[in-house]
Amino acid sequence: MKDLIVLGSTGSIGTQTLTVARKLGIRITGLAAGSNYKLLEEQAREFMPKSVAMFDENAAKKLKIALSDTDIKVFSGKDGINAVATGDGDIVLCAIVGIAGLDSTLKAIEAGKDIALANKETLVTGGRLVKQKIKEKKVKLLPVDSEHSAIFQSLQGAPAGSLKKILLTASGGPFFGKTYNELKSVTVKDALNHPNWSMGSKITIDSATLMNKGLEVIEAVHLFDVSPEQIEVLVHRQSILHSAVELSDGAVIAELGTPDMKVPIQYALTYPDRGVTFEHLSLTDIKTLTFEKPDMKLFKCLPICIEAIRRGGLYPTMINGANEEAVSLFLNGKIGFLQIAEIIEKSLDLSPVKNDFTLEDVYETDKFARETVRNLIKG
Ligand code: NDP
Repeated sequence: MKDLIVLGSTGSIGTQTLTVARKLGIRITGLAAGSNYKLLEEQAREFMPKSVAMFDENAAKKLKIALSDTDIKVFSGKDGINAVATGDGDIVLCAIVGIAGLDSTLKAIEAGKDIALANKETLVTGGRLVKQKIKEKKVKLLPVDSEHSAIFQSLQGAPAGSLKKILLTASGGPFFGKTYNELKSVTVKDALNHPNWSMGSKITIDSATLMNKGLEVIEAVHLFDVSPEQIEVLVHRQSILHSAVELSDGAVIAELGTPDMKVPIQYALTYPDRGVTFEHLSLTDIKTLTFEKPDMKLFKCLPICIEAIRRGGLYPTMINGANEEAVSLFLNGKIGFLQIAEIIEKSLDLSPVKNDFTLEDVYETDKFARETVRNLIKG
């Protein structure tokens, strides 16, 4: 088993990763997160990593005092997260939410680590840069997102060049089938009530707007070297078929299972081997699997993301930044649900146009996207 570093260890993916690690007896050498120092202390005492980090300076101070009776090194801030990401360990599971996860993922790749990637915003904003570094450093990039893991699993054994099309499934979120008028009055609580998956708040809102599926289309373009036209999004309410591929001979190969993130997390950590069963799938209990076309008119975030990746360059970074800001405003009760998509749509055309961009351009664009959203709200 490879030694594992977990970035975003206190979150939904992070804690499930530690459940997998506990079950498989994987050694944890580094843990990092934002501000939840109490949970990080508990995790550190259980797994005894060499180093830990908190992005929040005050939380890091408290954690340092709490762990003063141990030999664990405690770091703080962005540099501290990067120190953990590049410390002892073979594989880094990247589960920090948002563009905040991009830098540490790039640093981990530079340090020669294999990457198990949950943080889709990393590929959405810095996809080209990440892929260049992966190639340069000859490390593995293993998808954790359930749909991309399903695609990756379905492609095992498929000859190079045989992938014709990706069938990317979407649960449809809590508002599938609702009308425009009904969506006008939905609350934060309604939007956080996902029918199938228990996840962090940002991705749960993204699932309700279908932005999550749009970000996943962009993620799939980068991971599997396909064009956006080769990806078909299907609403599959049961979340049992986690995505599929159509090969050159028309054969469709899919991965199915209960909606449980521990399965794709485990596969990224054990690849190419198979791990243990967490939950058995009974198809006779499920009985019916349904597939429908998404409503692209009502859930505009999905077509906006497809348009952004078609245009390429910094467009995906721009809409990602606008979405991160809009979701945060929605969660804080500052804007309504439908405004999220309206704001992102307006920011798309304001994106800087630059095909050959640097990491600085990515961060500048992200900053600009957030400012744009704040200005749009003001007035
Ligand atoms: P959560 O909100 O549950 O967790 C986010 C994690 O990131 C927490 O550990 C948080 O720390 C940490 N964090 C936030 N900001 C920073 C920062 N600036 N520096 C360091 N750490 C930070 O999110 P999820 O686990 O749900 O999602 C994580 C990523 O995985 C997202 O990109 C999401 O899209 C992706 N993903 C999630 C899935 C899921 O089922 N949850 C499925 C597929 C993909 P703290 O809490 O201590 O502040």
